[in-house]
Amino acid sequence: MGQIVHALRKIGFLGNPREPMLFDIGPEYLSLITYLGCSPNILTGESENATAVRMCGIFDLPRFMHGENLKPPRCPSCRKPLEKPEATVVPEQEQTCSHCGFSASGHKYDWRHSAAYGRVFIEISNVFESEAVPGEMLTDCLSQATGEVWDYCYLRRG
Ligand SMILES: [Zn+2]
Repeated sequence: MGQIVHALRKIGFLGNPREPMLFDIGPEYLSLITYLGCSPNILTGESENATAVRMCGIFDLPRFMHGENLKPPRCPSCRKPLEKPEATVVPEQEQTCSHCGFSASGHKYDWRHSAAYGRVFIEISNVFESEAVPGEMLTDCLSQATGEVWDYCYLRRG
């Protein structure tokens, strides 16, 4: 994890640590994350409500992260949604698409940015659903630091 933190500080994504693994946003944050709305809700600085970045992991086993906005996953082969309720899909279990017969583990389905499966998560606070996306420079930096492909999702918590 130290290696990822180091890489993210170097490109200005992470600022000062608030506590272990919780950081202020860095000086280049707004050039690394693209906000799509016209008035993004970004409060910078060190106040408790300011946007912050939490590094989570590295977990021994992958975890399935999702919130109240969980969407029905789409079949990666035919693109139709699985017919069973999304909350009952176990990511480690084989799921068979009732439309085309494709079969794969639940985490291989397209959760439409409403869930993620992994051993490391970088959590940004104060982002509304679909309000912001990571820029190419950020995902390239993460790929180089880890040798993995990175994706993103939005979690709504009650
Ligand atoms: Zn299918």
